[in-house]
Amino acid sequence: MTAPVIGVLALQGDVREHLVALAAADAVAGPVRRPEELAEVDGLVIPGGESTTISKLAVLFGLMEPLRARVRAGMPVYGTCAGMIMLADKILDPRSGQETVGGIDMIVRRNAFGRQNESFEAAVEVKGVPGEPVEGVFIRAPWVESVGASAEVLAEHGGHIVAVRQGNALATSFHPELTGDHRMHRLFTDMVRADRRGESL
Ligand code: GLN
Repeated sequence: MTAPVIGVLALQGDVREHLVALAAADAVAGPVRRPEELAEVDGLVIPGGESTTISKLAVLFGLMEPLRARVRAGMPVYGTCAGMIMLADKILDPRSGQETVGGIDMIVRRNAFGRQNESFEAAVEVKGVPGEPVEGVFIRAPWVESVGASAEVLAEHGGHIVAVRQGNALATSFHPELTGDHRMHRLFTDMVRADRRGESL
């Protein structure tokens, strides 16, 4: 089978790092800014950045509804940090008017781990990622306050949920695209491959 085509939502945030990590995980990766580009991908990464800006630009570029429709239809999607916020069915402390794509039955608290200068790194054991713990880079990171019955917690840090999966939607509070360890991206590309075979991983 040919390599899966995985887009990175390229409205704002650390797009390039995800493109590099996805290519290292043997996907064909490209930026997605328009609905026509979204229609062509097998899966999508929503990067870290600023969720309020990503949300605003997604509405402006006519992407919010197409994103919701594809996520609802089961397209594999992976959100890191601001991307996690975008995948939450509900967020705490949103900016006024801030919308999310949704897809994971979870409540996410923005900036929960503190401000920019309280950013930190920590080893995180992630269910489904074999070997050493993942080096989690947390930058003004959200945490997951609670999940619904259909969402699975994959990792916690300091008693807070930092990685979640629900069906084909995956989200982490931290930024594996910044570490050079591509195991999270491999987990996601494996989800996309399984989805293309009509299976779920
Ligand atoms: N705090 C940011 C937000 O609300 C997320 C930070 C990040 O993605 N590194 O979008």
